[in-house]
Amino acid sequence: MTDFENQTVLISGATRGIGRAVAESFLQAGAYVIGLYAGDETSAAVFTEENSKFAALFELHKCDVSREADVASLFSHIEKVHGSLDVLINNAGIRKDAVLALMDSKDWQKVIDINLTGSFLMSKQAVLLMMQNKYGRIINITSPVAHLGFTGQANYAASKAGQVAMTKSLAKEVARKKITVNCVSPGFIATDFIKDLSKEQLSAYKKLVPMRRFGTTEEVAESVLFLAGKKASYITGTVLEITGGL
Ligand code: NAP
Repeated sequence: MTDFENQTVLISGATRGIGRAVAESFLQAGAYVIGLYAGDETSAAVFTEENSKFAALFELHKCDVSREADVASLFSHIEKVHGSLDVLINNAGIRKDAVLALMDSKDWQKVIDINLTGSFLMSKQAVLLMMQNKYGRIINITSPVAHLGFTGQANYAASKAGQVAMTKSLAKEVARKKITVNCVSPGFIATDFIKDLSKEQLSAYKKLVPMRRFGTTEEVAESVLFLAGKKASYITGTVLEITGGL
């Protein structure tokens, strides 16, 4: 008997990077995983292939979390086929960096739409389902730039700060229904998300981290599963930082 047996877990951005490690940790812990991706079919195929021993325990859906119609149709499937949802991980996220004075308003909007509005649309549907069972765990993957700020990331930082504020508000709204809502805030984690950075930038950013290294996706997944567990029942509205001391 493992911790998440008989639990249904929905994860956005589940086939690459942090989301993939989170999805695989839940599979190893016995959960049924509904994984979302935006359009990278190659990563989805690799995920399916490399997790074939868990084939009966997961399904993948192409679903743009920023599109209300996509999210509504996903949840109508979840309600019809699975009947309930125990855990939601809002992990899907993008960056489109530029200093604010030169930022295209489309890039501002796109980042807000996926990172923040996507988390809102998914959480709205999830709490409606979780309230029926009087149980749930929602975890939003934010970032320390939400409170630190970062040059060239006004859109990203605003979206991540918005996720924190939404988390704290929703946590209060659903606390009596035994639904907890928290954030996990990773520092620099070696994924595709930062693969555009130059060697010089990576080395300069590593020097900012007191532990002098980037984190791993598995280290983030550990903290997500902790907050998603039944034993984390009195933790809500909080932000758990996985930053190596940043
Ligand atoms: P990643 O490797 O770039 O993966 C991003 C994932 O999000 C992909 O699976 C992608 O799907 C999915 N996605 C993007 N837009 C989507 C949309 N509209 N609808 C559904 N899914 C969408 O990024 P990561 O490093 O794992 O980051 C995951 C989360 O951690 C993000 O929220 C990010 O802001 C946060 N974070 C990352 C770091 C870091 O250093 N890596 C630090 C702090 C916070 P496809 O595969 O189909 O493209």
